[in-house]
Amino acid sequence: MAKGNISVNSENIFPIIKKWLYSDKDIFLRELVSNACDAITKMKKLAGIGEAQLDGDESFKVDVIVDSEAGTLKICDNGIGMTAEEIDKYITQIAFSGANDFLEKYKDEKNPDQIIGHFGLGFYSAFMVADKVEIDSLSYLPGAKAAKWVCEGGLEYELSDGSRETRGTTITLYLGEDGKEFKNGYEIRSILNKYCSFLPVEIYFEDVKKEEDKPEEAADGEEKKEPEAPKPINDTNPLWMKKPSECTDEEYKEFYTKVFMDFNEPLFWIHLNVDYPFRLKGILYFPKINHEFTVNEGQIKLFNNQVFVADNVKEVIPEFLMLLKGVIDCPDLPLNVSRSFLQNDGYVKKISAHITKKVADKLTGIFKNERENYNKYWDDINIFIKYGCMRDEKFYEKIKDIIIYKTTDGEYITLENYFEGRDNKDVYYTSDKNQQSQYINLFREQDIKVLELGTMMDTQFMSFIEMKNENVKFKRVDSNVSDLSDSEEKQDDDNNAKLIELVKKSVPEETKVEVQSLKNAAIPAVMLLGEQSRRMQEMYKAYGQQMAAMAGMFKDEYTLVLNKNNSLIQKLPELSEEDCALVSDHIYDLAMLCNKPLPAEQMTKFIERSNKIMEKLI
Ligand code: ADP
Repeated sequence: MAKGNISVNSENIFPIIKKWLYSDKDIFLRELVSNACDAITKMKKLAGIGEAQLDGDESFKVDVIVDSEAGTLKICDNGIGMTAEEIDKYITQIAFSGANDFLEKYKDEKNPDQIIGHFGLGFYSAFMVADKVEIDSLSYLPGAKAAKWVCEGGLEYELSDGSRETRGTTITLYLGEDGKEFKNGYEIRSILNKYCSFLPVEIYFEDVKKEEDKPEEAADGEEKKEPEAPKPINDTNPLWMKKPSECTDEEYKEFYTKVFMDFNEPLFWIHLNVDYPFRLKGILYFPKINHEFTVNEGQIKLFNNQVFVADNVKEVIPEFLMLLKGVIDCPDLPLNVSRSFLQNDGYVKKISAHITKKVADKLTGIFKNERENYNKYWDDINIFIKYGCMRDEKFYEKIKDIIIYKTTDGEYITLENYFEGRDNKDVYYTSDKNQQSQYINLFREQDIKVLELGTMMDTQFMSFIEMKNENVKFKRVDSNVSDLSDSEEKQDDDNNAKLIELVKKSVPEETKVEVQSLKNAAIPAVMLLGEQSRRMQEMYKAYGQQMAAMAGMFKDEYTLVLNKNNSLIQKLPELSEEDCALVSDHIYDLAMLCNKPLPAEQMTKFIERSNKIMEKLI
């Protein structure tokens, strides 16, 4: 038996490991299981090139065995194994030279973001949960002897003869106070599910105590069931690793349901598969969204060589893509690097740009080749696209020509389509098809299309598009009648001034009154609401409580437009003073009513007046 001292210059590494990794204790299992998988992958490679012999048709696997009574957790593999010299070299020396680098580099820094795995200390994360760790290993090399390494979390270790009789490595963790929750089989299984569901080697989980319980359960049961063959906890060949041409729609949908537990079918998906200049594989799904408030439910799972790293790593994946659901496997990313490191990494920027481009290409492809489907998807994907445009200039540039808008008649058109046959760049929209239906009808009569833009996102998006496109102005249907009137009316014309004078008495002081000649002669008046001040109000309100006070600075700017082509308006000057007041009060209320529901008091008066007017008919 050999005894050795681990030499670390400055400090004992173990307290540091415990401290730095404390928040994410469960990654120790990911580290150990992926080491085991690596050892198997190496073995397969050696066998493949004839450098090592396999015993017949061996099946490669990793066993994870928890024994809650004994307080141990074992990770066994039949991989390449290690000789005593290799344990000394790879576990003791190399890891600790990594530790030295780590300590050197970060001794003055208080940045707990830096993660140890980056320095090849994965194995030592075992000490976050174990008081004692044992390695028992038999190398694949002909004539190798099993070797055992034991370390109790101090600077001392023991290296002696091991007891393994078959090739591979068994790591035994004696779980300590810091790792007592990992004595629980359910806990271990759920960690395995989280990190190891798609590892390339079969992983079997065994809960020793539960196994012992089983015969008793069977004795109570009526029929004795054949024990089922154990199943691996993972899918060794996940869909994203396959060639896109070999995957069926059914497989994509099934994978989606399984991974995201979303039983709505995804709309469509993008299979990423890059080998050069960097490696990247993955599948991005466009989920059914429909509702503005479910937007945040996207989920992008980041993998590194089939090992799960984390969800929604915003440093790697463009933020707006987080609205999607998907898996991304970047084998070249260090498994455990700090986020601040990722942010500045050129490789990460390339990944991000590539994904953005692929998404834009896919959308453009659907727009060009499956326009019907594109229209159908629009209600679900528009929030994603609009958000993406506002977040990412490059994305906007790529897809600006395929942004479409839904009209109140259910068509889906581009702005270019909208401007066809029009001599200005005013775009009329509605934020509420029902409330604003009177206005919409006026536009419809003049063959002017009205777009449906009613969400919070739309308000911001319209401003964005206006900023990007000179002269384009979005105008809500109740903000402007210039496209609905025959000619510009002079408000100081004698007749017009007289009309305004008559109606002013029925209208609150802050409301303007104007005269226009509307093409539709049937309506006496319309109420307009200033676009800009309304938008400012909406914006401030949307920013929540604090800013809502600011909204008060922007008063509703109402203008009552009297329609000179309407016979009632024309006859107004001929009525008696009393009747004129009655009619103009009513005209005002009706115009207002088309804009928004009347407040209670005004509504009561409106009804009383309606009754009065009816009485006059008798
Ligand atoms: P890393 O995996 O980042 O290299 P680790 O500290 O996890 O760092 O492991 C150090 C080295 O120990 C590995 O590179 C590998 O050579 C060896 N090793 C660890 N676990 C095993 C195992 N189960 N079988 C064979 N070799 C292993």
